[in-house]
Amino acid sequence: MADECLFCRIVRREIPATVVAETDECVAFCDINPQAPVHVVIVPKVHVASLNEATDAATIGGLALLAADIAKREGIAESGYRTVINTNADAGQTVFHVHLHLIGGRRMTWPPG
Ligand code: 5GP
Ligand code: ZN
Repeated sequence: MADECLFCRIVRREIPATVVAETDECVAFCDINPQAPVHVVIVPKVHVASLNEATDAATIGGLALLAADIAKREGIAESGYRTVINTNADAGQTVFHVHLHLIGGRRMTWPPG
């Protein structure tokens, strides 16, 4: 855990968020600036700055599996959804605690911007 990290603080419930799921390893909450009808951010409870620093397969894999669970629960698993991990500047990472975006509920374009 990092004292000043925004997502660590959400994990510790020091900053309010709409938590939609929690496992032993991960917390999932609604994005404060949603880009689609469903936009959930899924983070590991342990502080890892970005995918570049990740070493534990279960930590990263757990994000994806929880995303699929939430997608099913939200009713977008069949229609489709996107999962994204932004890493560093060119991808637009703004919070340096690794996280997976679950985005769905509308048709998306490819390639992404
Ligand atoms: P990134 O740009 O790093 O891939 O994604 C960070 C995401 O965190 C953005 O989509 C942003 O809207 C979201 N975010 C930033 N601050 C907060 C916050 O305080 N609460 C919540 N729920 N989401 C946040
Ligand atoms: Zn953190």
